[in-house]
Amino acid sequence: MSMIAEKTAQVLGEIAQACARAGRPTEAVTLLAVSKTQPVQAIREAHAAGLTRFGENYLQEALEKMSALQDLPLEWHFIGPIQSNKTRDIAQHFHWVHSVDRLKIATRLSEQRPDQLPPLNVCLQVNISGEASKSGCTPEEAPALAQAIAKLPRLRLRGLMAIPEPEQDLRAQRAIFAQVRELQQRLPVDGLDTLSMGMSSDLEAAIAEGATLVRIGTALFGARQNTKE
Ligand SMILES: *Cc1c(COP(=O)(O)O)cnc(C)c1O
Repeated sequence: MSMIAEKTAQVLGEIAQACARAGRPTEAVTLLAVSKTQPVQAIREAHAAGLTRFGENYLQEALEKMSALQDLPLEWHFIGPIQSNKTRDIAQHFHWVHSVDRLKIATRLSEQRPDQLPPLNVCLQVNISGEASKSGCTPEEAPALAQAIAKLPRLRLRGLMAIPEPEQDLRAQRAIFAQVRELQQRLPVDGLDTLSMGMSSDLEAAIAEGATLVRIGTALFGARQNTKE
C-alpha cells in the first residue's frame, strides 16, 4: 500500500469515528483532499486510493495539474483567495468554489460560467474568528450576501465555508464551528446543504458541529512541498 493509501484509510477512519460519536451517518461527510503544492503523482496515488475530489488554492498550479490529469474523472474545488482577474479561468475549470466572499467575485463567476456546464457550486467564505489577515465576509454581512449570491443564475449556493483561527482543545474548536453552523441556519436562503469546515487538526470538532465537507491536506499527503504559504 502506498503511504497516501495508508493515510487515506486513516483519515476515512477518523471521519467515520467522528461521525459515529456525533450520531451522524458516515456518508454525511465528504472528504476533500487538499492537494496544493503536492505533485501530480500524489494526486494519482490518492485517486488510486479511492479519492475523487481535490482542492487547490493557486490557480496556475491547479490548471497545470488538471491538464496533466485529464485522463482521470476528478472533481476540482477552488479553495484559495480569488482575485477578480482569475474568475474566468476559475469559472471555466472548477466544479466548486469555496472561497467566494464578495458579490463582485460572485457576479463575475456567474457571468463567466460557460453555458454548457452546470451551475458552479459555491460556498460563501465567512471570517468567523474575525482575523484581520483572513479572507471571508463578516458574519454580519453573510445573510445579505448569501441572498444576493443565491439569485445569480449560473451559481448554485451550497452553504458556508470557514477557516477558524487554530485552537488546541476540542471544546474551543467546537465553539467556533458551532457559530458557523448557527449562522448558516439563520441565512435567508433555502436548500443549503453544505458546511465546508474542518482541516487536518480540527476535523473531529467540525464533524461534531455539523460539517458536511472536510478539507484535508497534511493528514493525507504529509507536509506541503514548498513554502508558498
Ligand atoms: C491548505 C488548506 C486546507 C488543508 O489544511 P491541512 O491543515 O493541511 O489539512 C484546508 N482548507 C484550506 C482553505 C486550505 O488553504
